[in-house]
Amino acid sequence: MTAERTRVAIVGAGPAGLFLSHQLAEAGIESIIVDSRSREEIEQTIRAGILEQGTVEILEKIPGSRVHSVGQRHDGVELHFAGDAHRIDFASLVGRGVWLYPQHEVLTDLIAARLDAGQIIRFNATVDVVSDVESTTPRITGTDADGVPFEISAEFVVGADGSRSAVRPAVAGSRTASYFREYPFAWFGILCEAPPSSEELIYSNSPEGFALISQRSPSVQRMYFQCDPEADPNAMSEEAIWKTLQARTPGLELAQGPIFQRDVLRFRSFVAHELRRGRAALVGDAAHTVPPTGAKGMNLAVADVVLLSEALRRLLLEDDERGIDAYADTALKRIWKAQHFSWWMTSMLHLQPGTDDFDRLRQIGELRSVVESEAGKRYLAEAYTGWPLQGTLP
Ligand SMILES: Cc1cc2nc3c(=O)[nH]c(=O)nc-3n(C[C@H](O)[C@H](O)[C@H](O)COP(=O)(O)OP(=O)(O)OC[C@H]3O[C@@H](n4cnc5c(N)ncnc54)[C@H](O)[C@@H]3O)c2cc1C
Repeated sequence: MTAERTRVAIVGAGPAGLFLSHQLAEAGIESIIVDSRSREEIEQTIRAGILEQGTVEILEKIPGSRVHSVGQRHDGVELHFAGDAHRIDFASLVGRGVWLYPQHEVLTDLIAARLDAGQIIRFNATVDVVSDVESTTPRITGTDADGVPFEISAEFVVGADGSRSAVRPAVAGSRTASYFREYPFAWFGILCEAPPSSEELIYSNSPEGFALISQRSPSVQRMYFQCDPEADPNAMSEEAIWKTLQARTPGLELAQGPIFQRDVLRFRSFVAHELRRGRAALVGDAAHTVPPTGAKGMNLAVADVVLLSEALRRLLLEDDERGIDAYADTALKRIWKAQHFSWWMTSMLHLQPGTDDFDRLRQIGELRSVVESEAGKRYLAEAYTGWPLQGTLP
């Protein structure tokens, strides 16, 4: 058994854990990060793509960040429905934008910056148990890649370990202690070698079902279409995939090319019943998951960390518990707004199985209510580009 001691033990080297270690280090608080995956695996997992303006303003301050050199600013999105395209112009509506900068690039930047700064990251080490969270010396225990057990004791433990969090039981009582919603559809996602089909993201509601046309780089594109959650990603031919995508984006000619990655992504919403217990707390997907339609997951993880890092600074450097006592209630206000936005975008744009004409025409009415109203478009633009990030702890 190896035994270590640190001030904050962080489980998970995803965006939440890495960004938290950066914020703590800025305040002079030492931490150790543990992740069950290797550095290469973490840097190669394809996930999020859209960053809110507030997230970008934080990432651009991290040494070596390529968010402005590789990422692309988008000043709007298009909603397609009933044969027409409607642009939501973020710049004129709210004076803000979003950046297309893939999550694996964010992680590559963050890992390099943290290691350069001397951060300890234990890759290939899986945490199994979190204990003593009601004391001032909580502990995490697990096993490293060679099968050697390890223990890290700390002054605080943070679960930044994603939707299957091993820390959640110690905070919320069990892995499933959450408000939960499962959706009756999923996304079939592809990565393909092709030029962009459009400059900005297109969210398309069609009688055939939903499709999202997104971009990745000048030569690689990311696209999704609504599918059955049980669909086998390898069962469809490339021709059938392109036919499905094209049928769901009428009026747009898709630039096609070889598909080199495909996956099926189930849709779930959840919020853990508790986000903090004693000397342990949850951030990011460990605390909540949203369907990807509103592009909120990683952005919400960053917002949690902004609050938690300030609460830990006060707790560990000033012995002031008011911030940590207020962490959950403060974070939950934004989390439930983001849950609502993600659910709203999802339900407005996808076809529910068994939808009848009433539901379908009502949905088109809802979309018109948004695009034909200044207030409707502004709400979408405000939520999509992100509400202000600020430490509102008492
Ligand atoms: C297809 C797709 C598209 C998306 N698009 C967007 C988007 O456009 N914008 C956006 O903001 N969000 C988006 N998201 C959501 C975003 O990817 C997640 O919300 C984000 O990764 C959450 O970060 P995290 O650090 O909380 O968790 P994760 O990224 O899941 O990281 C958790 C880490 O913990 C590690 N871990 C887990 N269990 C253990 C354990 N027991 N011991 C040690 N380590 C452990 C894992 O290996 C992992 O590295 C998308 C997600 C998907 C799937």
